[in-house]
Amino acid sequence: MFARFAWIAVLALGSFSAQKKAEVEVCPWCKNDPALMSAAGVVSHGPLAIGPKGSADIVANLPTTQWVFIETAHLRWASSLGQTTVDMKDKPRVERELAQLRLALPAVPEKLKKLDPFLRLHLLAMRGENLYARFQSLLRVTDADFPPKRLQTGPYMGNGRFLGEADKFEVVIHNTRATHVPFTQSFTGAGVTDSVRWHFGETHKLIVSVPAEDPDLRQDRWLFPHVAHNLSHLFLCAYKHFSYDPPIWLDEGLAHALEKEIEPESNTTDGEEGSLRDTSGPPDWKAAAKRLQASKKDRSLADLLHAKEFSALDMDANIVAWSKVRFLMDTEPEKFAKFLGLVKGQLDAQGVPNGQKLDDLQRNALRDLWGWSPADFDAAWSVWVKAP
Ligand SMILES: [Zn+2]
Repeated sequence: MFARFAWIAVLALGSFSAQKKAEVEVCPWCKNDPALMSAAGVVSHGPLAIGPKGSADIVANLPTTQWVFIETAHLRWASSLGQTTVDMKDKPRVERELAQLRLALPAVPEKLKKLDPFLRLHLLAMRGENLYARFQSLLRVTDADFPPKRLQTGPYMGNGRFLGEADKFEVVIHNTRATHVPFTQSFTGAGVTDSVRWHFGETHKLIVSVPAEDPDLRQDRWLFPHVAHNLSHLFLCAYKHFSYDPPIWLDEGLAHALEKEIEPESNTTDGEEGSLRDTSGPPDWKAAAKRLQASKKDRSLADLLHAKEFSALDMDANIVAWSKVRFLMDTEPEKFAKFLGLVKGQLDAQGVPNGQKLDDLQRNALRDLWGWSPADFDAAWSVWVKAP
C-alpha cells in the first residue's frame, strides 16, 4: 500500500546516527547570486527543510557526503547525487538542456564531459518546472486559478496555490538506499526500497523520495523520466487538493504518458514496494498497444475502471491504460482537461470533496463530454490505435 498515499499522522522523525554536517558550498554556476538565481528560476539554494513538519534538517539527519538544495517556484529539491560523466548517447539531450540553462546562467558551457552535483540539480530543477508547466497546460490552468485558500465563491480549485495543495512539491534524490529507507520510514512507518510518494496531511504537501542507487537510475537519462512519472502522480493527486485517490487507470496512464514524452523507452511501474524503473516491458509501447488491440487482448475501459490498486494492472494493462489516456490527450485535449477537472473535484451536497462512485462519475463525464459509453470509447480508441 505504500506506493499509494495514506492519511496517517506523520510520525516523529527517528533519530539517525549523528553525523557531522557537510560544509555548505557555494554553487559554481549561479554563485548564489540573487540576480543569476532569479534568472534561473531558483528561489533558494538552501539548506532547505524538506519532509515532515518539525523534522530537523535533512543534512544533519541523513549521513551522506553532501546534500545540494534548490527551491524553484513550485518545487523543492534535495539531492545527494555525486558527479556524473555524460554518456555519449545522451549528449544531444544534455546539450539541449545546457543551452536552456545557459540562457539564465551564462557560465554554463556548451559542452561538458562531466556534470557536478550542482549542475545536475540545476538541470533537474529546470526540467521539473518544465514538467509543471506541461502539467498545467494539460489541465488548462495557470497559477492564477489557485487561490491560497478555498474561496466561498467561484469554482472549487482545492486549498492552495500548488494545484490545490498548500505547499510546494518536494523531490529528494538519494545516491544510496542507506538514506532513502530511513528517511521515508520516518514518515511512512515502513521500510520501502524503491521510490516512495507521500502526502503530508498536516502541511498539505506532497513528496517523492527516489533512491538513485541502481545503475540505470544513477544516469540522468533514466533518472528524470522516473522522477517525472512520480511527479505526474503527485501533480494529479494534488489537483483540487488530494482528498481521495484518483482512478488508477487514469493516474497511471497519465504518469506513463508524461514519462514517455521525456524518454519514450523509460518505464516506471507502481507496486507494493514503491515505484520502480521497470525494464520488463517492451521498449515500444505504441507498437505493443497496436498488437494488444489486434489480438483483442486489450483491457476494456469498463475493466480498467475496476482497477483499485496499481497491482491490479499487469504490464499489458499498463500499456493499454497509457494508450487510452494518450488517445484522450491527443484527440480532444480540451475535453480531457475538463474530464480531469471533474474526476478530481467531486463535491458532496455539503460541498465537501468526495471520492465515492468515481466509476459512475467517469461514465457520466464520458457521456456528457464525448457522448460515449465505455464501449463507444473502446471502439473509438481501436480506430485511433490501428491508424498508421
Ligand atoms: Zn546554483
